[in-house]
Amino acid sequence: MSRAALTDAVAAVQDYVRYLQRLGVTDLPVTLAPPVRASTPAPPVLPSASAASIQVSSTPTEPTVRLAQLAAAVRDCRNCRLHARRTQVVFGTGDPTATLVFVGEAPGHDEDVQGEPFVGQAGQLLTRIIAAIGLTREQVYMLNVVKCRPPQNRNPQPDEVAACRPILQEQLACLQPRVICALGALAAQTLLQTEEKISRLRGRFHMLGAIQVMPTYHPAFLLRNPQYKRAVWEDMQRIQAVLGLR
Ligand code: SF4
Repeated sequence: MSRAALTDAVAAVQDYVRYLQRLGVTDLPVTLAPPVRASTPAPPVLPSASAASIQVSSTPTEPTVRLAQLAAAVRDCRNCRLHARRTQVVFGTGDPTATLVFVGEAPGHDEDVQGEPFVGQAGQLLTRIIAAIGLTREQVYMLNVVKCRPPQNRNPQPDEVAACRPILQEQLACLQPRVICALGALAAQTLLQTEEKISRLRGRFHMLGAIQVMPTYHPAFLLRNPQYKRAVWEDMQRIQAVLGLR
């Protein structure tokens, strides 16, 4: 490798580490891994259930490749009790280079069966909300805080959220969106590390490192409480403006 290429590689790693630090990752492995060959990608190492942060490869691999590696690595994850009754891990879907990422709470029944987030009735409403700001599902990325369906669609418990958090952090580190739309209280509170109510968080952007986070109501909540659709539309218009979509 030439000196210039080496300098670029080191700079890329440094940028990536700084980005992870801004996301709240405080514990990174210091061992430099050998370069990854495209034909034999090495998956990121998953942390144990009790780990407070995620381990990441220090090799400057393409974010899209890293995301695919991560998806493969967590396919059989058993870091929390939710693995026992899931059909499959619902990792996320969409464009890995999207500027806008939607973060929900946890998979429901339809998502668990189909392996894709936001495919039920609430998902259809979210699709219409996305269309209203001039985008399609394929142009954004969607994921949940917790990747496995909680039994009877109960709320994920704090230890389950903590167990899955390193996966979420690594996903966001790969995606590096400009804007995250946090759908519902759990997503907003997990991302922003606050216990503030969603009604107080929504309506304005919050910074997560370099990412602008707009909390708003979850589409499942909107199905039960349609009077809040106007508030969500106002939040979506703020996202639309920041991304220059109008
Ligand atoms: Fe692993 Fe997350 Fe599923 Fe728990 S919810 S088993 S941490 S992928």
